[in-house]
Amino acid sequence: VEHKDILCPSCGSELVDFVMDVTDHFLSKEQFKLYHCSSCDLVFTWPRPEEARIGDYYKSEDYVSHSSTKKGLVNRAYNFVRSYTLKRKLKLVKALTDGRDLLDIGAGTGHFLKVMSDNGFNALGLEPDEDARNVASRESGIVLRRIQELHELGDSSFDVVTMWHVLEHVYNLRKDLQQITALIRKDGVLIIAVPNHTSKDAGKYGSNWAAYDVPRHLYHFSPASIKKLVEPFGFSLEKQLPMTFDAYYVSMLSEKYRGGSMLSALKTGWASNRAAGADRSSSQIYIFRKK
Ligand SMILES: [Zn+2]
Repeated sequence: VEHKDILCPSCGSELVDFVMDVTDHFLSKEQFKLYHCSSCDLVFTWPRPEEARIGDYYKSEDYVSHSSTKKGLVNRAYNFVRSYTLKRKLKLVKALTDGRDLLDIGAGTGHFLKVMSDNGFNALGLEPDEDARNVASRESGIVLRRIQELHELGDSSFDVVTMWHVLEHVYNLRKDLQQITALIRKDGVLIIAVPNHTSKDAGKYGSNWAAYDVPRHLYHFSPASIKKLVEPFGFSLEKQLPMTFDAYYVSMLSEKYRGGSMLSALKTGWASNRAAGADRSSSQIYIFRKK
């Protein structure tokens, strides 16, 4: 069979099955495939661009997590919601630890890091994109470091490590998780936010679901697959939280891709949140505690 050589990038299993074709609606219009691993429940993008080439797939002013542009309804909504969610993230981190040493991996333009620094945290941020690092420096006076420095930081240096919509982009998944584990002190927390393809909005939009975001998203996690990936490194999954606004944001983009209406997006976002329960939110926050 065609996919004989494809191994699951999370657990290494050969038990992978084709799920669907997905187009890069956002930029290249290229088509990629999704496969599902029946050993660990991960869905992943195949083929994935070489790591050295992935930067080409981010080259757009519309990639909102890397820019502060306020053009367009979707971007305006995104920026409005961001200030609310930043407050929520601060509250969440404070409730999880008394420690103050924080590492944010994939810090983007540094908004989260700025809030944490302003509230008494020793916050360090890593970001692969040079343009984003420059924006952070120019707009907030926040100095972000290159992502390569992840492997230069000392063991047991942090009480909390955050990855807000980042893990789905990470090429060397197991190697980086190994290092992240070493960086966190005992009883420290690892906070991972990722899209959830088991959500109701994902089911409705299918291959047009904007959070597949191929090939930038290499993995598409379910609650089961992220637990199976992270816990063996020495964590226990303490809590899962919904990201309510993501259902609306992702639905708006998905409707844009399929030529639908904003009203339909609002309805879908609302319905998805209503059906989400503990583990079917459009995007979820997973709180892992280091043993
Ligand atoms: Zn697997």
